[in-house]
Amino acid sequence: MRVRNKPWASEFLQENRHIAIAQPSELKGKWKEFFGNSNPIHIEVGTGKGQFLSGMAKANPDINYLGIELFQSVMVIAVQKVIDAEVDNLKLLNVDAAVLTDIFEDGEVDRLYLNFSDPWPKKRHEKRRLTYKTFLGLYERLLVKGGEIHFKTDNQGLFEFSLRSFSEYGMLLTFVSLDLHQSDFEGNIMTEYEEKFSNKGQRIYRSEAKFQN
Ligand code: SAM
Repeated sequence: MRVRNKPWASEFLQENRHIAIAQPSELKGKWKEFFGNSNPIHIEVGTGKGQFLSGMAKANPDINYLGIELFQSVMVIAVQKVIDAEVDNLKLLNVDAAVLTDIFEDGEVDRLYLNFSDPWPKKRHEKRRLTYKTFLGLYERLLVKGGEIHFKTDNQGLFEFSLRSFSEYGMLLTFVSLDLHQSDFEGNIMTEYEEKFSNKGQRIYRSEAKFQN
C-alpha cells in the first residue's frame, strides 16, 4: 500500500497509545489479561487502513481483535477508524508479520485473517508472500490447535499459490469461493481493497484453511 509519509504519524500514534499498542512484545502471553476478559483473540496481518477489523469489532463485541500493520503512515488511518467506531475490542500493532512469535505465545491466537496481502508476483519474491510456508510456520505456532486462516484476495495468482501452500503444509481447506460476492456466504465485511477491486468488476476469492496439529 503506497501512502505518503506522514511526519506527524508517530506523534499521533503516541497520543493514541490506548489503541496503537507501544510495546506489544511486553504483552506476549498476556493478551487476554490485557483485554480483561477471556474472549477469543482474532488477528489480521496486513490490516491497512482498518476498515475490515473496525467492522468486525462492531459486529462481534465478544471477540477481541488485533490488527498488525507494517507502516505507521497507514496505521494512523486505522487508528482514526477505531476512534470513530468507538470500540474497545480492537487494538493495533505497528509490527512486521515476521516477528509475530515475539508478540504472541504459542497457541494464544484463535484465528488469523489475511486480506488482500501484497501478491509479490515475481517468483524470486515468493518468500515474501504472507502465505509462504515460513509464514505458515509462524502462524501455526501462535494459533490454537486446529486454528484457521481466513484469506481473501482479488489476485488469482496469489490465491492459487496460497491454496497450494496451505495444502502442501498439510492444512485442511474447509471453504473455497472463486467468486465471493456471487456466493451465498453471509456476513462478509469488506476491506478497503475489496471495495476498490469489486467496484472495478474484479472477482474476489476467499478461503478458510485449518491447521491439523
Ligand atoms: N488488508 C487491507 C485491505 O484489504 O484493504 C490492506 C491490503 S494492502 C494491499 C496490504 C497491507 O499489508 C499493507 O498495508 C501493508 O503495509 C501490509 N503489510 C505488508 N507486509 C506486511 C508485513 N510483513 N507485516 C505487516 N503488515 C504488512
